[in-house]
Amino acid sequence: MRILSKPTLDPKTVYLACISRVRRRQLKTDLESVADTIEADALDYENYAQSTEWHLFDESDDVDNTVSRAEMEKVYTNRMAKKEAPGRKYYDEIKESSPYNICPLCAHRTVEQVDHYLPKSKFPSLVVLPINLVPSCEKCNKIKLDDAPNNAEEQTLHPYYDDVTRHQWLFAEVVETSPASFQFFVRDVVEYDDELNRRISYHFNALELNVLYASQTGAFVSDIRYRLVDLHAQAGMAEVRNYLQEEEVTRGRNNINSWQRAMFQALAQSDWFCDGGFNV
Ligand SMILES: [Zn+2]
Repeated sequence: MRILSKPTLDPKTVYLACISRVRRRQLKTDLESVADTIEADALDYENYAQSTEWHLFDESDDVDNTVSRAEMEKVYTNRMAKKEAPGRKYYDEIKESSPYNICPLCAHRTVEQVDHYLPKSKFPSLVVLPINLVPSCEKCNKIKLDDAPNNAEEQTLHPYYDDVTRHQWLFAEVVETSPASFQFFVRDVVEYDDELNRRISYHFNALELNVLYASQTGAFVSDIRYRLVDLHAQAGMAEVRNYLQEEEVTRGRNNINSWQRAMFQALAQSDWFCDGGFNV
């Protein structure tokens, strides 16, 4: 998970821009009449975010009994996300806000779309709320889909509000297969409270990150194999371990919870691998 700077776009300005080209008179009147509710719900969202209690936000079928959920979803789809739509510049600004275009949810794949942290199918007043929209890869967005948090511990990490980048929680262990494979897992951090530890674990499992990371390791290890073969021939397993530890340290400085860091750490700790496990 990567932390991102929160968008500073004004929620009401974005909403009014999105609905600015609605032609049907009654629909336009209805959409304009809920603008204050959209703004009030944006404030509620920010308050829930401060105490990481998005799960308390009420689900709804409409906004103010005036605009249906389906109409609000269309505001997002046709008036914000669609190319040439009046709200598209805000959509692009959010989508392009992640450094190196890396999905902040999995910290690996490329950003391709925008994910609603609280899903648009259950929270119609939040469909175009900038702080509810997070740049995302297609897979993470698809996995999350309509999932709304049932309780505090089943809230995935929110890149604008949850900074979990100071301590290591992602680890791996080597499986002695041919070639070596890995199991990634999450460990509790003593500096975090129980709820945050449960949320990190929930995020890791819900987004199937073990499967993603484990699938990347084969090519990576294959790429450094001959370096390890040479080191082992020249100076034995201690030099192999030194090299793997150096790689772990430099990668950990870049992203403390990158799968590459966890992988190198696990490799350096494995006597089996350091003493020739890379040959099998
Ligand atoms: Zn992703």
